Amino acid sequence: MSPTHVPPSMLEASRIKSLATEVGFDLCGITTAGFLDGEESHLREWLEAGCHGTLGYMERNIDKRLDVSTLVDGARSVIVCALHYPRVRYNATATDKIASFACIPDYHKTVKEKLHQMLVQLGVSGRAFVDSAPLLEKQLAINAGLGWRGRQSLLITPEFGPWVVLGELVVTEVVDMYDEPFGPSRCGQCRACVQACPAGGRALIQDSVLDVRHCVSYLTQQGSGNSENLHGWKWGCDECLNACPYGK
Ligand code: SF4
Ligand code: SF4
Repeated sequence: MSPTHVPPSMLEASRIKSLATEVGFDLCGITTAGFLDGEESHLREWLEAGCHGTLGYMERNIDKRLDVSTLVDGARSVIVCALHYPRVRYNATATDKIASFACIPDYHKTVKEKLHQMLVQLGVSGRAFVDSAPLLEKQLAINAGLGWRGRQSLLITPEFGPWVVLGELVVTEVVDMYDEPFGPSRCGQCRACVQACPAGGRALIQDSVLDVRHCVSYLTQQGSGNSENLHGWKWGCDECLNACPYGK
């Protein structure tokens, strides 16, 4: 659509995506702001089963998680951006492993700065989020066409596998073209992440359902693990990410 056909209050998707590339994001997709009705029952069942462990904040603000327009008055669109980060490799006997996301400069800061640059250059009102508010970012990324939910519950992108961090801009403008939600999972018959998980079926209890209480990453961050159940991880855990063929 040429600029002359775009009403003044409407943002152009092509401009948003060029800007995302200019500020350094690797992926960008755009979806509508609205109630994520397909997610409510999953979220409530997961919480009722206690799969969130002691992450009490997950129980709060459920309505906000399901609908970004409760976070930003008049929200119409969500711009989801992803930044690829490199994987750190350890040998099999290492006992001081730190997850790759924790080996890069604080992504909260980096991603938020990039999102703010985009907001300023777009000249629109809205808010930038990076893990900073109750927001179902994986589902928003799927809706924005960036990837699918892998068997280990992470977002998997065709380009970088699971090796991305996400940030979102929730804006009050309509966009001239929204992305289609990503199609079905591309996991196929692969179960590499489940097979690689040190906690096995106790953490990955069903396809795309994680019980954090047994997840090594959670245990390291809660300080509640021990040398037997941490499998050499000091902070986080990359085993299910390392196993994913889309991230090789
Ligand atoms: S982070 Fe580690 S423990 Fe948690 S699901 Fe992935 S492989 Fe399993
Ligand atoms: S390792 Fe295999 S099953 Fe797991 S998320 Fe990647 S493709 Fe899907």
